[in-house]
Amino acid sequence: MRILLSNDDGVTAPGLAALADALAGAGELAIVAPADHQSAMAHAITVSDKLLVVAPAEVSGRPARAVGGTPADCVRLALRELLPARPDLVVAGINRGANIGINIFYSGTVAAAAEGAFEGIPAVAFSTELGETEPDFPAVAACCRRVLNMLLARGLAPGELINVNIPFLRSGWPLGVKVVPQSSARVVDTYIARPGPDGLPAYHISPDYEFHSTPGETDVSALAAGYITVTPLRMNLTNHDDLERLAQSDWGSWQ
Ligand code: MN
Repeated sequence: MRILLSNDDGVTAPGLAALADALAGAGELAIVAPADHQSAMAHAITVSDKLLVVAPAEVSGRPARAVGGTPADCVRLALRELLPARPDLVVAGINRGANIGINIFYSGTVAAAAEGAFEGIPAVAFSTELGETEPDFPAVAACCRRVLNMLLARGLAPGELINVNIPFLRSGWPLGVKVVPQSSARVVDTYIARPGPDGLPAYHISPDYEFHSTPGETDVSALAAGYITVTPLRMNLTNHDDLERLAQSDWGSWQ
């Protein structure tokens, strides 16, 4: 099996190295990751005449390529130009920080995986919740490998996109795996005012935020309760209920 591995925390991120180690033996690994930290870049790609410079890099002793662009750039470029053959699986992570609820929309990690799914390749995004100390990435990566083994044993369909989050590994956690829907509740966060250049107001996003969960068990509630969350995603944003209602409206004659 050929696996393309990427992330959004950059080619030097410990989560990438730990996941590369954990995936060793699962298949032939190609690593293409952003040269710089690219969190919260979502699906951004580099357009116009800007160059995507590809530099040789090393991830935990393995050859890798560092792309001067976004996570989506990395996977797009890897699939279209850099890899000698189409991979069987695209894996992104391990992101330093959970990608749950509406934060999935900002996530470069999920977007990197989604680029594989767009091309009809099964893809899995892995992220870990943050806690009081730095995550134990090798331990988190072992959880990721176990989840991936389960997914592969069950079989991944072409273009299937799975979002996996590992809770912060305190004693006794994870309690297990829960397959749960994405929460779409708002994230309560704030901006901190700072003096900007030339007396202009300036703000930066506060590191403190509060997740809320939509009713029922979701990725937000299950992760907080100590479970690994597995959420199948679709990148087709169509609201089918509203589609029906809109289709039933009288749009008039245009001829
Ligand atoms: Mn990140």
